[in-house]
Amino acid sequence: ELAIRMAEKGADLVKALFKMGMPVTLTQTIDQDTAELLVTEFGHNITRVSDSDVDLATDTVEDAPESLKPRPPVVTIMGHVDHGKTSLLDALRGTDVVKGEAGGITQHIGAYQVTLKDKSKVTFLDTPGHEAFSEMRARGANVTDIVVLVVAADDGLMPQTIEAINHTKAAGVPMIVAINKVDKPEANPQRIRERLLEHEVVVEEMGGETQDVEVSATKKTGLDQLIEKIQLQAELLELRANPDRDAEGTVIEAKLDKGRGPVATVLVTRGTLKVGDVFVIGAESGKVRALVNDKGMQLKEAGPSMPVEILGITGVPAAGDPLQVVENEARAREVAAYRAGVIQAKRTTNAPASLDSMFSALKEKQAIEYPLVVKADTQGTVEAIVGAINKISTDLIKARVLHSGVGGITESDVTLAGASGAPIIGFNVRANAKAREIAERQKVALKYYDVIYELTDEIRAGMAGELGPEA
Ligand code: GDP
Repeated sequence: ELAIRMAEKGADLVKALFKMGMPVTLTQTIDQDTAELLVTEFGHNITRVSDSDVDLATDTVEDAPESLKPRPPVVTIMGHVDHGKTSLLDALRGTDVVKGEAGGITQHIGAYQVTLKDKSKVTFLDTPGHEAFSEMRARGANVTDIVVLVVAADDGLMPQTIEAINHTKAAGVPMIVAINKVDKPEANPQRIRERLLEHEVVVEEMGGETQDVEVSATKKTGLDQLIEKIQLQAELLELRANPDRDAEGTVIEAKLDKGRGPVATVLVTRGTLKVGDVFVIGAESGKVRALVNDKGMQLKEAGPSMPVEILGITGVPAAGDPLQVVENEARAREVAAYRAGVIQAKRTTNAPASLDSMFSALKEKQAIEYPLVVKADTQGTVEAIVGAINKISTDLIKARVLHSGVGGITESDVTLAGASGAPIIGFNVRANAKAREIAERQKVALKYYDVIYELTDEIRAGMAGELGPEA
């Protein structure tokens, strides 16, 4: 890219860098200082354009503590297929006290908000499951405050239950366990609580801190208790945002609507979004033409934690994209155009998660925690590998297995690894096509082994080499 801008041959740049003692490949990203040196070396002029000159600063301007007001919690529901996630989302939607008022009709916009008897509100993301959750997280969008883990009392802990637990833990989001289908005669909630212990989820009754509640999504029992526990958890989290400022938000879902054009559902994270506001949304821009809530009603404004559909966007943004209100349309267009140009570049220069990055961190002599995802062909191998990896851990480096399991590498493994910058170790197993595709896109390293010594040797040798003789 730099070569093209200077109208020089890429190979000449690589050669020059080589001479400077920097062996690089043609597509490798170099830092700004090196780039400057190189440009000068080739006799060109430099104009430094930093992101902050053109792009908007995100999350840099902190709100004054006194401007912060309590905001509703944002909840994601996770769990194994058929354990009742969709049923529970529907049942919870039914707890809304303003439902049906003013003739609103339920719209599926990707999230909804219920108002409770005490006038407080809770926002639920409408796409259940951990894939969407970790995909958003990989894009830097941590919108979920609380996870509700649904486990069917007649079925127990299943693979996706365990995945959901691990995705939630990796994100550091508090979890509430909803033991569902307790209306069934064969339901055994106590067994669920015991089995959860094996995955280090200790519910209150077992002396731990994780809240749990027995529910029936179809019989609509236990819903009030679940909501109460969500509110309690929300209080502990002291969720706050400044409603009196230009709005910022995150895209939950976006589509091209035949009649209405590009439509995006945005969850407002701070400030208040108003009709007429000019904004940048990912690499698109626009002016709010209308705001529509999950009951199909037009609003004049939307405050923190409120999900709302926005009309008036130039194109369709992506889920996880940030929305920011800006001062005028010229500015909005400028930022969007700049992002449209750099977004591609940024996505490809994301440092790949790899053993190499672990070793270079080691070089800096930091005690690091190194996340890994381990998949293997049998339970015995999984345990052997996790054991071996843990044994390699030293004071300088601690391996942390985010998730391990039997079977091929799936999309879920990749989204989890991607969100945490972890490589995936596949022992006698490979990634499926979809997982490979996502791994490529998210720059997740897939490492395959079929001999356990190779795996441990590679890690150990690398560590020894990097640590040098003094270690
Ligand atoms: P999801 O795949 O996790 O979204 O699960 P669904 O919500 O689609 O539910 C799967 C099946 O379980 C459906 O047939 C539901 O009717 C049933 N189901 C969900 N919740 C309950 C419950 O509390 N009790 C009983 N008896 N059945 C339930």
